[in-house]
Amino acid sequence: MAKEFQCDSPECSSHFTAGDSEEMRREIAKHLKDAHNIDTPTQTVMNYLETTSVTETSGRAAR
Ligand SMILES: [Zn+2]
Repeated sequence: MAKEFQCDSPECSSHFTAGDSEEMRREIAKHLKDAHNIDTPTQTVMNYLETTSVTETSGRAAR
């Protein structure tokens, strides 16, 4: 199941998709490092983002 991420941060609003949850976790970690200067996100942060910012898509980018 493809995943879609919409960043929760008001000054960021990044948006990207990934093929599965494992890839999505890598993309989120990369995004946090590049855009938010978070080198090693905690499991709590990852769980929070996966809950609040990640949705499942039908496999195609919606936008
Ligand atoms: Zn962001």
